[in-house]
Amino acid sequence: AKLAGKNCYRFYSRAIDQAAERRVQLEQELRGAWDRGEMSLAYQPVFRLADRRLVGAEALLRWQHPQQGLVSPSVFIEVAEQSGLIDTLGPQVLRAACRDAMRWRKVQARDDEPLFVSVNVSPRQLRSGDLPATVASCLRETGLSAHQLHVELTETTVISDEPHVIELLARLRLMGVKVWLDDFGTGFSGLSHLRRVPVDGVKIDRSFVADIPRDADDLALTTAIIAMAHSLNIVVVAEGVEKPDQAAVLRDRGCDLAQGYWLGHPIDIDGFLELLA
Ligand code: C2E
Ligand code: CA
Ligand code: CA
Ligand code: CA
Repeated sequence: AKLAGKNCYRFYSRAIDQAAERRVQLEQELRGAWDRGEMSLAYQPVFRLADRRLVGAEALLRWQHPQQGLVSPSVFIEVAEQSGLIDTLGPQVLRAACRDAMRWRKVQARDDEPLFVSVNVSPRQLRSGDLPATVASCLRETGLSAHQLHVELTETTVISDEPHVIELLARLRLMGVKVWLDDFGTGFSGLSHLRRVPVDGVKIDRSFVADIPRDADDLALTTAIIAMAHSLNIVVVAEGVEKPDQAAVLRDRGCDLAQGYWLGHPIDIDGFLELLA
């Protein structure tokens, strides 16, 4: 038993070493990946459920690794966040998304509502640097109107360093930028937080959407989130809509906006421009 324990330990410690090594390597490869042209933004269309109109898109980062192919952002964003690489990558993403949103305006019909672009912001981006200042310089450089820019923050980010974060969010909103809470419902922060945290919208996490309308609990929860958000004048976006009956029931319950594979997959900028034309 002792021997087995020792072998077991060796096995695990080697596995941990390998994982740590892979991480360090990934970090090195990630450094400069944007400048080498390996990264790009994909845009997932967001629709208004009431009239099925396209109203904007979420920018999602893609990394085409020279050997490994497409690496998921759920893997590399964490590495970028922990290594501090997000400090340079974050503003690059923001600037590129604003620039792309300006291109959309040029292909849109003149009297159509300008589409918004929604950018994911990770916790570290709120703590290090001055996000409102970065946002302001991106808007100035690209000429995009603040009203066309949304930032998405996860519920847990916003709940942590509260007073500081609340001040940052207030500054962004004062500029006219909209603040959305991402993955809403997963953080157990409770709906009461919405009274104190200044946000314009909540994005219902796709784990709640996945089993509706069949799952009665999920449907009740989703309906409650919608009602409560609306009572606070907060817009509700549903994520991960994969089936037509999900879209139908969400619309019936008054959900404002939706995105998901059934409505549209994330596509590159050229594909998105085609969608608009
Ligand atoms: P997220 O912000 O929750 O983004 C939604 C994710 O769900 C995206 O995955 C999207 O491709 C996927 N998705 C969209 N519709 C559906 C659907 O109908 N069904 C299912 N199963 N999935 C759907 P993706 O692109 O792999 O991104 C994963 C996460 O990585 C994002 O989750 C976000 O947290 C993070 N991320 C992506 N881009 C950025 C970025 O530029 N900055 C930061 N900080 N994080 C990013
Ligand atoms: Ca998001
Ligand atoms: Ca989400
Ligand atoms: Ca469920």
